[in-house]
Amino acid sequence: MAKILMARYGELVLKGLNRSKFENVLVKNIHGILKDEGKYNIYKAQAITYIEPLEGDEQADRILEKLGYVFGIVSITVAYKCEKNLDSVKETILNNFSDSLRKADTFKVEAKRADKKFPMKSPEICMETGGFILEHFPHLKVDVHNPELQVTVEIRDEHAYVHTDRIKAAGGMPTGTNGKAMLLLSGGIDSPAAGYMIAKRGVKLEAVHFFSYPYTSDRAKDKVLKLASIIARYSGAVKVHIVPFTDIQLEIRDKCPEEHLTLVMRRFMMQISEIVAKKNDCNALITGESIGQVASQTIEALNVTNDAVNTVVLRPLIGMDKEEIVEVSRKMDAFDTSILPYEDCCTVFTPRHPTTKPKVEDIIRSQSLLEVDRLIKEAVDGVESVLIESEF
Ligand code: ATP
Ligand code: MG
Repeated sequence: MAKILMARYGELVLKGLNRSKFENVLVKNIHGILKDEGKYNIYKAQAITYIEPLEGDEQADRILEKLGYVFGIVSITVAYKCEKNLDSVKETILNNFSDSLRKADTFKVEAKRADKKFPMKSPEICMETGGFILEHFPHLKVDVHNPELQVTVEIRDEHAYVHTDRIKAAGGMPTGTNGKAMLLLSGGIDSPAAGYMIAKRGVKLEAVHFFSYPYTSDRAKDKVLKLASIIARYSGAVKVHIVPFTDIQLEIRDKCPEEHLTLVMRRFMMQISEIVAKKNDCNALITGESIGQVASQTIEALNVTNDAVNTVVLRPLIGMDKEEIVEVSRKMDAFDTSILPYEDCCTVFTPRHPTTKPKVEDIIRSQSLLEVDRLIKEAVDGVESVLIESEF
């Protein structure tokens, strides 16, 4: 009696042509995440993708866990496949659901008959299976409206399937159905959470990281790559572009007014990210900014950084409190890595009294004290790119 996994997606978004595109990308992503999990079959029927592990229950459990990372799957049901007759269905119920039936007070049987040639109609299947369950678990009561446990019997073309509850899955849309964006990835809590949220909308990610060696250490860089590998569990492999940023930071420190340091630096980050994004076919930038969190994230400051680029900047955390962001960070399992105490290039060069109500012209004037084009070109020329695979 093999386990089979039924992945359901949100049907509301799936109209017409969209649907087959969505399903194809989803199946491709499932194959991607299961590439080291041995032999299995995948097929689609009636808005459900079936994943059938062929190597036993342990493999099925591993596959179930991995499917929990796949955006586009709203819920997963573990079903048991058996022969297409009621004796086999009954045996499957006793073998697999006795514990749950013992614990429940109320239940209901639902039958779905995809094979219309099957000799019994749905109500008969329900009656007979329900009666069988009551015989074996006499404490149970039938509740057709709000049962604690629903046992579903599906009669399909080749086999019957029996299952109970749905497990909530990652939701969202399959990665790759909504283009590609460049995430500005630091080692903090916010930017990985921002990347996760945009990936959940079906957007493929690449990432850019500004690295100020030796002011920030290799451990800080490794932490960022580790965060990328956590994001990659959900989004698939992430190409990370590491930008040498020390020269720019030193020039800013030496030549710009101290209270403008952060914003001039942030304009450079945006401009360089935009160039790297365009080179890699990414049509949006993503940051982890949230209104008012720090001096460089006031509305005025956001105007200063936004003005540095023409590409759309996605800021999925913009209206969220820190607690809400931490919740996302924990949910995606990045939090423990994000709070490792390695310095970030921003914290090393932080001014004592940053401006909170900057004027765009003033910051542009400060930035133009430097050879902006040369500095940007050198940084872009020095980019090193690594493809980071998911790590579980
Ligand atoms: P985070 O928790 O993501 O580090 P933060 O609250 O520390 O964010 P800032 O340091 O002001 O905020 O940075 C704002 C955003 O700029 C970050 O969310 C991130 O998208 C980007 N960013 C900051 N530092 C870097 C860096 N070294 N490399 C790439 N992007 C960065
Ligand atoms: Mg930070």
